[in-house]
Amino acid sequence: MAKIVLNKYNYFHNLKIVSEHAGSKEKIAVVLKDNAYGHGLIEIATLANEFGITKAVVRTVAEAQQIKHLFEKILILSDNNLSTYSHSFHIVINRYEDIAKLPKNTNVHLKIDTGMHRNGISINSIEEAIYSIYEAKLNLTGIMTHYRSADELTCEFFWQRSVFRDIKKVVTALCEKLFLPIPAFHSSNSSGLFRFKNFDEDIARVGIAQYGYTENHSLLLNPNLKPVMSLWANKIASQDVKTNQKIGYGGSYIVKKDMKISTYDIGYGDGFLRLNEKHKYTTPKGYEILGRVSMDYVSINSTDEMICIFEDVTELAKLNDTISYEITTTLNPNIKKEIQS
Ligand SMILES: *Cc1c(COP(=O)(O)O)cnc(C)c1O
Repeated sequence: MAKIVLNKYNYFHNLKIVSEHAGSKEKIAVVLKDNAYGHGLIEIATLANEFGITKAVVRTVAEAQQIKHLFEKILILSDNNLSTYSHSFHIVINRYEDIAKLPKNTNVHLKIDTGMHRNGISINSIEEAIYSIYEAKLNLTGIMTHYRSADELTCEFFWQRSVFRDIKKVVTALCEKLFLPIPAFHSSNSSGLFRFKNFDEDIARVGIAQYGYTENHSLLLNPNLKPVMSLWANKIASQDVKTNQKIGYGGSYIVKKDMKISTYDIGYGDGFLRLNEKHKYTTPKGYEILGRVSMDYVSINSTDEMICIFEDVTELAKLNDTISYEITTTLNPNIKKEIQS
């Protein structure tokens, strides 16, 4: 069976780097949505807790339920169907109508659209929204926004950041007027965190950096992160192939000289994105994936019992014309996880 190995040393290394950059462990909320970007929700949540992280971010209430014993605060990004609730849950309000749906005393973070035009209420309706939250007797525990270009070389990031700073002043004044506690303010994802020094917000929502990646390194304050996940596959069968024989679907790989090859048990059915004759990939040990990736198999010029498919997805992301996030997140949650400490 193929497996994912999680390198605990690298994970702790990354958490140390992000915590130091943010100022403390308390300022880090680890983003664990989508099965912790394919790394395993429970496995990563348990490690983060062991390191001393107290906050997490997920997409759904069901995810929050699974990890509620491990964190003091869990931010739920896009699910307000509170079939179950815990006082550690904080629900993101993505639109004005959400306010009326939530039961009294629910902890909420109000999301403000500062330019991404995805979710959140508009800047003009902040005051109205806070009054409605107050009247609905919800606990306003956070104010948040999300950057549209934290990892791109433009000044847009700094512009959005300054808009959010102005919002902070307005909200603080309003909360004082209403005798409400000042909520936590947060805007940064991984690349937002590494775009500047002297982090001055209450929380950074760190996703990809904890797993060892960032996009567009050159823009960021050299975080020196280490990939946490490696993917391993097991040999199914070996055989000798002769010059000019063809391997796999479409016979797209033509053997150049007699050699021994094997099939291994990983394929696009496991969420390992399909490679083909146009996208040639070599494993960390220098073996080549021969021809097309099948649903459950790859052919490789090796006879090793187990093979490391990747220990860093940067190259694969480039080949697939995508980002590191997609390579790890698409991996099937059923692939078993092993923690290497
Ligand atoms: C996914 C997500 C993050 C984490 O982003 P990374 O780039 O992986 O650090 C932060 N905030 C929100 C709202 C998200 O949806």
